[in-house]
Amino acid sequence: MSELQDNALLLRLIPFSDSSLIAHLLTEHHGRICVLARGARRIKSPFRASLLQLQQLNIRWKEPRTGTMGTLLESTRLKSLVDEKQSLSGQSLLAKASTLFPDGVSQGYHELFDAFTLLQNRPEDSGLNAACWQLFEDAGLVGDLESCWHCGESIAILPLSYWFNGHLLCDKCSNKHGMAISLGLKKAIREHMKNPNCKLSREQTMSWSHMIKQVEQFHKH
Ligand SMILES: [Zn+2]
Repeated sequence: MSELQDNALLLRLIPFSDSSLIAHLLTEHHGRICVLARGARRIKSPFRASLLQLQQLNIRWKEPRTGTMGTLLESTRLKSLVDEKQSLSGQSLLAKASTLFPDGVSQGYHELFDAFTLLQNRPEDSGLNAACWQLFEDAGLVGDLESCWHCGESIAILPLSYWFNGHLLCDKCSNKHGMAISLGLKKAIREHMKNPNCKLSREQTMSWSHMIKQVEQFHKH
């Protein structure tokens, strides 16, 4: 029943009894954890100002004697992960990370932290896309945009490839079903991932959002 300390990102808070909260966090060195923050709903609780989402936190907690829920002892805010105007996108990113990195996984902290960096440096709509795409890449849900994800053939110079059920396919494998993906769109996505100054058109951003939604739908089941 040792005491531990680590940097952490708060995924979600769930009310527990009249006065407490259960916190799910991704920690830098201890994976995803779940801790009870006793009294955190009381007006005078120090957790009210320190146990917050969209912040890099440093926390101290006690491991459980039995079961999986530890006890949170202290939380300190280190820095904000996004500007206030991006807090909705930030919340959306947390919800995705909570699904992609479930209880028991050891990774997630660095992946989510990197995704927040992508979001912060970009316009809100394309920034959320870039951050999601990064999370999907890290979780192995999306591959590179140069080859067909079904047959492996290079599609680097094909004028059109197809987005079908959250997968990038060549024209043979897709039978031309799904959303047509132009070379220009693939290039724009690749460049925007690397460089926030390479802007996407509104249409490209919308197509990319559509691709991301399909990935989520496909992996829901
Ligand atoms: Zn193919």
